[in-house]
Formats: sequence, C-alpha cells, structure tokens
Amino acid sequence: MPHYDLIIIGSGPSGRAAAIQAGKLKQSVLVIDRKDRLGGVSVHTGTIPSKTLRETVLNLSGWRERSFYGQSYRVKDDIGAGDLKARLHMTLDHEVDVLEHQFNRNHVDTLHGMAKFVGANELEVATDAGDTTRVTGDKFLIATGTKTFRPDYVPFNGTTVVDSDEFLEMAEIPRSLVVIGAGVIGVEYATMFAALDVHVTLIEPRQSFLDFIDKGLIADFTHQIKENGLDLRLGSKVEKIDDSGDHVEVTLDNGRHVRAEMLLFAAGRMGATDKLGLDAVGLETDHRGRLEVDRKSYQTKVPHIYATGDVIGHPSLASTSLQQGRVAACHALDTPTLAESAWFPYGIYSVPEISTCGMSEEEMQEREIPYEVGVARFRETSRGHIMGLEHGMLKMLVSLKTRRVLGVQIVGEGATELIHIAQAVLNLKGTVDYFVQNTFNYPTLAEAYKIAGLDAFNRMPIPEEFKAPKGKKKK
Ligand SMILES: Cc1cc2nc3c(=O)[nH]c(=O)nc-3n(C[C@H](O)[C@H](O)[C@H](O)COP(=O)(O)OP(=O)(O)OC[C@H]3O[C@@H](n4cnc5c(N)ncnc54)[C@H](O)[C@@H]3O)c2cc1C
Repeated sequence: MPHYDLIIIGSGPSGRAAAIQAGKLKQSVLVIDRKDRLGGVSVHTGTIPSKTLRETVLNLSGWRERSFYGQSYRVKDDIGAGDLKARLHMTLDHEVDVLEHQFNRNHVDTLHGMAKFVGANELEVATDAGDTTRVTGDKFLIATGTKTFRPDYVPFNGTTVVDSDEFLEMAEIPRSLVVIGAGVIGVEYATMFAALDVHVTLIEPRQSFLDFIDKGLIADFTHQIKENGLDLRLGSKVEKIDDSGDHVEVTLDNGRHVRAEMLLFAAGRMGATDKLGLDAVGLETDHRGRLEVDRKSYQTKVPHIYATGDVIGHPSLASTSLQQGRVAACHALDTPTLAESAWFPYGIYSVPEISTCGMSEEEMQEREIPYEVGVARFRETSRGHIMGLEHGMLKMLVSLKTRRVLGVQIVGEGATELIHIAQAVLNLKGTVDYFVQNTFNYPTLAEAYKIAGLDAFNRMPIPEEFKAPKGKKKK
C-alpha cells in the first residue's frame, strides 16, 4: 500500500498551497480529489469562473466607458451565454495547466477519487466507476471545502432554478433574474448581471447585508447598485418558489411576488465532510458540516489530522485558504514558519467592487477607540477623471491616540488591488503620517490614499515633532 508523509484531501487553494509547500520540503505528498480536474471549487465553480465572468461582462458591455459615451454604449451588441463561456473555458484550462505543472515540478502525486478514512492513518479512495485504492499517511490535511446548500423548498432544476455551481452553465442569458441571498456570492452575481442590463431582483431576509463591511461604505454601495438598476429587497423572506416552466415566481412573506426567467439560490454553503468517514477517526462537525481547528496550527482535535480552507468556516476565501494550507503543511511537517499577520483584506468583486482591511467605523466605536476619518472620492483624483469615474471612495480610519491607520474601506474601480497598500500599512503598524510624507505616482487611483490621509491629518492635532522648535516661532 502506498505510504506518504502528508496526504491532502482536496485540490482547492488550501490543498494546493499545502502540497506545494510539502514538495518544497522534499516530503512525499499525495493530493486526492474526487473531481477529475484539479483546482477545487476555486478554479471550477467559484473564484476564478466568477471573476472571469465579471471581466468579460465589464469588457463586452463597455461598462467602464459608459460615463463618456452614454448608458447605451456597448462594445458588443447581443452578448450571449456563449460569449461569456468562451473566455471562461480558456481561463480555467490555463489555471489547471499551471496547477498541474506546479504539482509536477514539486513532485506532488495525485489520485482521482472520493476519499474516506477507514482508520486513523488509512484512506480508501473510490472512483465513480467503483474502483478502490487504499493509501496510508503519517499526516493528513482535510481541504475538502464546501458544496452548495440546497434546501428542499427550492425546486432546483439545473436550468432556470439553479445554485451557484450550476449558474455558470446557463444556456442563455436570462432577461430577468432573481437572486436569493445577499451574501458575497449573491451580491457579486446580481450586480454583474445588472451590468449586463438584465433585470435583477436581489432578495435578502435580513434588513441589512454584507454586515462585516463598514456601514457607510455599504450605504454608498447600495446607492450605486440601485442606480445601476438592481432591485434590492431587504427584509424579505421567501415563502415559496414556483417554477411554471416559462418563468419562476417567488412569493415573499409580505405577500409580494417576484417573477423572473431564472432564479439563482445563493444563500449559503455546507462543509463537504459527509463522505469523509470522520467517525473512523473520531472527528465531528458542526450543523453546517464544518470542522473545528486550532487557528494557529490548523490541527483538528486529532493531532495528525489538519483542516484548512472553507471546511473550517470563516472567512471562507481562496486567499485565506492558500495561506492556511501553507501554514498547516509547515506545522504538519515540523517546519517553523512565520506567524500570520493580524489583518487580511476582504475583496468583493461586485460591480462596483468593494475591498476592506482592518476595522470598520462600527468596530472602532464598539472598541471605544477615539478616531478620525479621512475620505477621498475617486472623482477628486486625476486618474479618476481620465477613467471617467463618477463614483468610488476610499475611507481611512485613524486612531487619534496613536495616529495608526486601523482600517481602510474602498468601494469602486480597482478596490481589490488598491487595498494592499492599506494592508501593508496596517500590518506594519504605520500611521496616517506615512500618507502625508510620501509621494504617490500621479495620476493614479492610489492617490486617493494621499487625499484621505491628508483629510484625516488636517483634522487631527498636530504631532509635537511637526511643531516648530521652541524659541523659533514666527512672530
Ligand atoms: C461563486 C464563488 C465565488 C468566489 N469568489 C471568491 C473570490 O473572489 N475571492 C476569494 O478569495 N474567494 C472566493 N470564493 C471562495 C473560494 O472559492 C473558496 O474560499 C476556496 O475555493 C476554498 O478553498 P478550499 O481549499 O477550501 O477548497 P475548495 O476550492 O473548496 O476545493 C475542495 C476540493 O475538495 C474536493 N473534495 C471534497 N470532498 C472530497 C472527498 N471526500 N474526497 C476527495 N476530494 C474531495 C472537491 O472536489 C474540491 O475539488 C468564491 C466562492 C464561490 C462559490
């Protein structure tokens, strides 16, 4: 029976990062995935497809040019599902090629099939055809991610009533779309299709959405998406969903009805742990199929079994999964590594995009940290003028006591790239003075940092070291 130093179940971002790290440490490593193509949810149904789709939508619709040439401006008329899928498949193929190449270069073995524990150090791997293989390992990493949550009251049919995995398979772009669930996935797809001029209704049972983001930013974002034609229904619970064949009708608890050609159910995902045979190793999951781990080492309560990525819950991002996988592999293979930094960015690739790092204004208030706010609007920057940006803002939260930047929130073009400046300053414990002292490329959107920094700085007490030395005051 083949034996490995580390066996990883799942080839998504956390499994991939762990495998490459193990390969670099010259350890024997095996990655098992039930899908015949490597890459996980991230490559095949999640991050990469949705972001490729977004890029295609913005390019073909001429979205970025509309403030100059008018709302009816299009780069391509009659955009069809085929146009959206063509680029998708090219990108995915390329992603898989790169991953396979990385595995080959780092001597990572792979095995196709569904893995389940049959003993503390042994897995059985079964293919769809019914063939089984057994493998043993010293250490294991569960990186099985999540699968879509499909409640019984939703009449999924794979074509007009779909989950987020099936959504990308659409045969035609619907003229109207109802999205249930204003979490990150729901908001991203809803705003993307609104940018394609599809009539989109986004339904959310709670009175608010994306609650982990600064409320001021969400207010700005909500204004923009409504202006883009999206019908946002907060505080609306779904009572029932009827699929009549030619349209889908959603009845809300307030008695109102929403009709659309297509329904996307995007309200939650479940940890993919039910087929792992966790009983055999004495592990249990929570009600959403997620595993609990030590958040520093990523060990489960069975010390030789680790878990990373979406299967351990929040923050459930490809970005954080990559980081967790690498850290877990180092720990499992007794290799010291640097502790993770305090702050990581959140990126929401909606239209417009949102990205944040550090605290929101509400968190600063909860923690009773006295603060000043600096704001920059993209339309105040020369780069913003050149790009025709009418919206977009950057908000910087600065501690009045220490002058440290404790949070940056951005909505608008390039937010997910721009945020990394904030991330560096936050994690390096930088102050607002950094933005005042440093020169920024001009014209850039990054200049918004300078403007927001100056905005906060000018309203804060002047630091002692900036004051003129005693006796040299101007008369
Ligand atoms: C629509 C959508 C958009 C997203 N957009 C972003 C984004 O923009 N940015 C971002 O950072 N994150 C994004 N995410 C989240 C991101 O995709 C996940 O955080 C990431 O994929 C989690 O990685 P993972 O390592 O947990 O594994 P996953 O990518 O979830 O992959 C797990 C793999 O394990 C395999 N597997 C499961 N069970 C078994 C088993 N028993 N045996 C063998 N193999 C098994 C599965 O087949 C799968 O290939 C998005 C997610 C979705 C759904």
